[in-house]
Amino acid sequence: MKVNTGYVFDERYLRHDPGTWHPERPDRLRAIQRRVMFSGLINELTLIQPYEAPLEWLTRVHHPDYVERFRQACLKNYTIFQSPDNGICPESYAIARLSAGGILAAGDAIMTGQATNVFCAVRPPGHHAEHAQAMGFCFFNNVAIGARYLQEKYGLERIAIVDWDVHHGNGTQHLFEEDPTVFYISLHEDPSHCYPGTGHRSEKGKGPGLGYTLNFPFPPRSGDWDYLEVLEEEVIPALAAFRPDCLIISAGFDAHANDPLAHMRLSRTGFARMGRVLAFFAQEYCQFRLITVLEGGYNLEVLEDCVEDHIRILQNIFDS
Ligand SMILES: [Zn+2]
Repeated sequence: MKVNTGYVFDERYLRHDPGTWHPERPDRLRAIQRRVMFSGLINELTLIQPYEAPLEWLTRVHHPDYVERFRQACLKNYTIFQSPDNGICPESYAIARLSAGGILAAGDAIMTGQATNVFCAVRPPGHHAEHAQAMGFCFFNNVAIGARYLQEKYGLERIAIVDWDVHHGNGTQHLFEEDPTVFYISLHEDPSHCYPGTGHRSEKGKGPGLGYTLNFPFPPRSGDWDYLEVLEEEVIPALAAFRPDCLIISAGFDAHANDPLAHMRLSRTGFARMGRVLAFFAQEYCQFRLITVLEGGYNLEVLEDCVEDHIRILQNIFDS
């Protein structure tokens, strides 16, 4: 079987403008796209065109009134939505739908055989977005919408989401904490030191979902081997027991030592190693089905280096 890696990108993703000096800026995707072009990777990837996520899929995880309020805020030229860190422009609503739709298009591609695995270079990011609350630069929870889509449109039963963004994915956790069919696992900086303040080890899901949320907070200045040890010894065994039909990575690259927003010490090599471990797991357990979705990462050099490495890993998982 030849691995055929898909790549979701659209120039329109650059149009979401959260305001001057906002760290979640269009340059993040410009840097990634430039690297994918100039490295020649672009010629080896299957380009996947995103579409605006239909309302019916957005409202699988978000309250319809919330979606409408966001639409209205953009129509009325508001510059923030719900919280000061969620800067918006008139096009933000459409682009946030296109961001979520990037994961739907990725799902279509892996389920129809157009691609084996996919990297989604999308923005705005999604993992902080709650049922009815925009938070932390996020409006629609891209991975959550994608997980529901894979279940309901394509009949996949169990989806696992591994979130290695340095910030806890509060939105994704809350959306699935009572659901035993979506396993959410997060590795992040200790909530007492870092936004958004959730993600303690004791948060393990609720009701029927108890045991299907796992949180691994790390103290500031943790490094590659701290993460890799937890990934190999705790995350992989838990994933193997769950036997997901598809693995989604909420991939932020803001735990890197040079990222300006957090206090961790991961290296480029550490991110590559984590990617390899999870790609190998998807190969063994999920029929290769792996969708990596960009979340945070605010140092442009780090972002383009780590994304290039990760895409090459997706293409070469046989060599792992
Ligand atoms: Zn983050």
